[in-house]
Amino acid sequence: MHHVESKVCPECGHIFRGNGWDGIDAHWRSKHEAVMPYEKAWPLLKSETYASG
Ligand SMILES: [Zn+2]
Repeated sequence: MHHVESKVCPECGHIFRGNGWDGIDAHWRSKHEAVMPYEKAWPLLKSETYASG
């Protein structure tokens, strides 16, 4: 048994149905790079301390 927890983009609610945050790189860069650079957002997303707005 294994449990896969879906990750949700805190900016737009997009659900990542792959393995964890699989695809966040391309998703963030194409949609939210203007809000926060991916390099800065990723550590926050990973530790789930990202606050939108
Ligand atoms: Zn998003």
